[in-house]
Amino acid sequence: MEFSSKLLENAVNQVSQLPGIGKRTALRLVLHLLRQPAEQTNQLVQSLGKMRNELKFCKSCHNISDVDLCEICSSHKRDKDIICVVEDVRDVMAIENTSSFKGLYHVLGGKISPMDGIGPHDLNINSLIEKVKTNQVKELIFALSPTIEGDTTNFYIFKQIKEYNVETSTIARGISVGDELEYADEITLGRSILNRIPFENSLKA
Ligand SMILES: [Zn+2]
Repeated sequence: MEFSSKLLENAVNQVSQLPGIGKRTALRLVLHLLRQPAEQTNQLVQSLGKMRNELKFCKSCHNISDVDLCEICSSHKRDKDIICVVEDVRDVMAIENTSSFKGLYHVLGGKISPMDGIGPHDLNINSLIEKVKTNQVKELIFALSPTIEGDTTNFYIFKQIKEYNVETSTIARGISVGDELEYADEITLGRSILNRIPFENSLKA
């Protein structure tokens, strides 16, 4: 792609680094921004910069938050000894949308995936085990997507906490294999949380 402007070329190159955005789409978006009032584009740039610099991760559950302890963790209305283990913040949003769960979350930040070089220590697993060890948890609900990586991660955590007095369950697999949790419809997802099964039963299945 030949550009008549170095500034335009730089902007297109930056935008095309976003997932799913090729050079052509990037050019279309940049030209769109150029046609907008300058103030609108500046607001977009500012809000992205502010988000990137000021956003925090909850010190307890690792969910995205504006403050040190997120709204869910600091709420008095939540069951603090039931923890739903999820892969990322999109899963928290999906489960919150169902209004079926009143416990807390623990965001791992991914799944164990040797193929991608992601091991247990790259994820927020130690802080979860620590919560179990210090008797802060009555039940852990595994809500990772039903993939090989999800199963591996569940099983790794399960082995680590087996000796402690904690119940483990997994959300019912009404969600077909390969579907990401975030795409499950709210009713199905809500029902699968309510109808969760003991984790050990899921291993026999
Ligand atoms: Zn939190």
